[in-house]
Amino acid sequence: MRNVYEKSDGSILAGTNNGIVVIKNDEIIKVYGTTDGLNNTVILTVCEGFNGEIYAGTDGDGLYIISDDGVTRIGSEEGLSSDVIMRIRRDDNKDVMWIISSNSIAYMKDLIIKQVSTFPYNNNFDILSDKNDNYWVLSSDGIYSVRCDDMLADTISEYRLYTLANGLTSLPIGHGYSALDNEGKLYIAGQSGVSRVNIEKYFERNTKIITTVKNILCDDIPAKKDASGAYVISSECKRIQIIPAILDYTVTNPTVHVFLSDVDNTGITSELNRLSALEYTGLRYGSYVLHIQILDRGSGKVLSDEAFHIKKEPRFFELIAVRVLLIALLAAGVGLIVWRVMAGTIIRKQYVQIQDAKAEAERANLAKSRFLANMSHEIRTPINTIMGMDEMILRENADGVPKPYFLSVINYALDIRSASESLLSLINDILDISKIESGKMHLVEQEYDIAATLRAIITMIRVRSESKRLFFNVEIDESMPSILYGDEGKIKQIVLNLLTNAVKYTVEGGFTLKVTVTEKDSEKCDLRISVKDTGIGIKKEDFDKLFNAYERLDEEKNSGIQGTGLGLDISRQFAHLMGGNLVCESEYGEGSEFILTVSQKIVDPKEIGVFKEEVEENVKGPYVPQFIAPDADILVVDDNPMNLNVIKGLLKPTKVFVTTAESGEECLEKLKLSTFNVVLLDHMMPGMDGIETLSKIRANYPDLPVYALTANAAVNGEEFYKEKGFTGYLAKPIDTRALERAIMMHLPEDIMLKPETPEVSEEPTDLPDDLKWLYDTEGISVPDGIKHSGGVSSYINSLELFYDTIEDNASVIEKAYNEDDIKLYTIKVHALKSSARIIGALSLSDMCQSLEDAGNAENKAFIDANAGILLEVYKAFKDKLKNIRKEEKSSGNKHPVPEDTLKEAYEALRELIPQMDYDSVEEILNELNNYALPDKDKELFDRLLKLLKGFAWGEMEELILK
Ligand code: ADP
Repeated sequence: MRNVYEKSDGSILAGTNNGIVVIKNDEIIKVYGTTDGLNNTVILTVCEGFNGEIYAGTDGDGLYIISDDGVTRIGSEEGLSSDVIMRIRRDDNKDVMWIISSNSIAYMKDLIIKQVSTFPYNNNFDILSDKNDNYWVLSSDGIYSVRCDDMLADTISEYRLYTLANGLTSLPIGHGYSALDNEGKLYIAGQSGVSRVNIEKYFERNTKIITTVKNILCDDIPAKKDASGAYVISSECKRIQIIPAILDYTVTNPTVHVFLSDVDNTGITSELNRLSALEYTGLRYGSYVLHIQILDRGSGKVLSDEAFHIKKEPRFFELIAVRVLLIALLAAGVGLIVWRVMAGTIIRKQYVQIQDAKAEAERANLAKSRFLANMSHEIRTPINTIMGMDEMILRENADGVPKPYFLSVINYALDIRSASESLLSLINDILDISKIESGKMHLVEQEYDIAATLRAIITMIRVRSESKRLFFNVEIDESMPSILYGDEGKIKQIVLNLLTNAVKYTVEGGFTLKVTVTEKDSEKCDLRISVKDTGIGIKKEDFDKLFNAYERLDEEKNSGIQGTGLGLDISRQFAHLMGGNLVCESEYGEGSEFILTVSQKIVDPKEIGVFKEEVEENVKGPYVPQFIAPDADILVVDDNPMNLNVIKGLLKPTKVFVTTAESGEECLEKLKLSTFNVVLLDHMMPGMDGIETLSKIRANYPDLPVYALTANAAVNGEEFYKEKGFTGYLAKPIDTRALERAIMMHLPEDIMLKPETPEVSEEPTDLPDDLKWLYDTEGISVPDGIKHSGGVSSYINSLELFYDTIEDNASVIEKAYNEDDIKLYTIKVHALKSSARIIGALSLSDMCQSLEDAGNAENKAFIDANAGILLEVYKAFKDKLKNIRKEEKSSGNKHPVPEDTLKEAYEALRELIPQMDYDSVEEILNELNNYALPDKDKELFDRLLKLLKGFAWGEMEELILK
């Protein structure tokens, strides 16, 4: 039996697990079951409809309505959300049938089902209504009370819920049967029995819950109240427990919130039956307010709030004043210690660090200076060699050299000169800056010819302006004194830099160099040197940066132009050093003008007049030195033999006798052996350097003129070397004029000769006229011959010897070839190779070389193919040189040989030929050739010479012993 219902006719409907039973007058009058069309006979609820029909809710097949017409099933198709029907209630007040299914509440009116979707809960069991127009819904959660209108309109927003927490004694159960009696008392079948609630008479009882403090324990000892009613907690107390008391006479279980304000407002929030004590340990001294609040369970609203005062007494050290004092003391103490530590360690450490850093910086700076000095030496030395050698090429005598060859060599040499010059100037720039930076830049003043200086500058720039098709106008004040005194080098460097920039930064148009004398008296003149261009110009905002080191402007636009940004900085610093100035005026895009103003002393006031810009490239003709002194003895000391060679070369025209030494030690040795007029001593040498060597020299030769040779431009030369005891110094690359001047100063007048005209050297530089035909002889290069023979006279000698040996030598070579004696053949062509080279027969020499190579490689095929040609070419020289002897004979004007000499010669030859002493025999024979000899002897000696060239020792011995 699940459910019973009393119908209006007094019959009882009973829902069972096996259908619906109708009982009347204690008798079962009808049982509805499967046969009546009930698919499901587990009937959970029965009820009478408004028209006497039976409503039956099943456990899984929805709702059956049984009337006289039969059974109608209402299921999910008709709008039920579940086929398990918990309860069907007829609501006579509202004329609806309530259907509580397992997951929703719905009602049926006029056979239409309406779901109440806003009901807050869906595991409901039953629904009842009171007289106050409320529905009471029993659910697994408790009892919900909802207003009828809200329920029917499905607009529930307010409801009340009664649970165990607020007074319900037992929660409803689903399969129980709860019912309302006539007085409105609801009997609820619950989990722990039946509860009865009179829902008709329900009213909201808002009982005031009384709250107070049950106890405050300080380390388990109850705290006392002071006169004001505040609880007093002693300063010693560590653990404080606050136990609230809630005097609650309701059946509900209120929510309580207990907290101490000013400590944390969270405190404890709990239902009364779970409320514990509020505990604090280490509460600071001070006044607190204890709140005990009752909260609304649903909304958390504060329903009541009771406040109690608590005072915690301070301990001595907790007092603010005491604390402040303590902190101050502590701070003072810590400060003292920190100060001591700082003074003792950190400051000292910093001091040491600063000292170290300073020393390091000084060391680094020193290293930089040393590096620059070394670099200057290391780089300038080879440049010096290159430039010196190049200078020698430029001065080489062109006589007798094929003109096109000579010209191209000279052009290359000029290119080398200009490249070396720009390399040198770059290095000099860097060195200049380092000198300026270290305050070591000084003026080097001397007399100079201003016109010559300008000419040199203009010549250099002219080449560049022409190649860029820029105009280059020169306007030089005619009233300028011809010889001035000042730092010519620096002026030159500034003007060159300005002009170079003008070329570099001008694309169209050109530039003008204008030199004006702005003021002049008998002693000095003020110069204004301006370089004005039509170039790219300089932006106003860049003016400040213009004269900064390493600063380059308009980098984007000028990216293709080489430069370091050093030039203008150096120039201005130089101008200032000379007491002058360098300024710039410019219009961006229009052009710039750089103006150097400087004052110079006047040595020769003669005006230069109209300035002539002649090109003074003196490449032809021998160099004319300032003096000639064959009796002068000069000692040059340098560890680099190339440098020695250069100085020797430079001094050659002066004819001074140059002795060289490659080290300081060797220099001292040489000084012991002879007396020198001047010593030129390199500064930087391995082992004993120039300065050390000098100090040793000075011990024995206090007055000997000794000049330092230096590429070391990073120190102030003159001053530095004079201080070290040198007579002076010569900077590399060495300027010939300066070198000559230095030497001249120390030579006695009587050994110096003035070279009026270019000196003609004793050694002829060209072939005598009667041999000029040799120049036109095919297969012979006279210049090479002269060069390889070491001079004209020995060349002629070589030619004669070559000529004399052709016949015999050719037959020896031929014989060796024919007899297949490859070894001998190779030796013979090897010898011929050298001889041919000596006379300038270069192609013959080359031919010999290839045959010699073939011989060494036993390449018979090559020899077979070429041996004939070689002999042919070789023998052709017999004809080519046939005039050699004839000329000599006709021009021979020799002394007759003295009797003794001839006799001695014979004796020597008899002795030396069996010993096969080639050199001595050759020497004797050559010597004899200097005399006019009796025909018989001449013939013999000629024969011997020929045999000698062919190494025919046997035949020679035969001849001489005969
Ligand atoms: P560099 O030419 O080696 O870069 P400078 O010190 O001589 O160094 O010049 C510094 C900069 O000043 C140059 O890079 C260039 O931007 C600018 N400048 C110098 N001369 C001129 C000029 N005549 N016209 C335009 N700009 C110039």
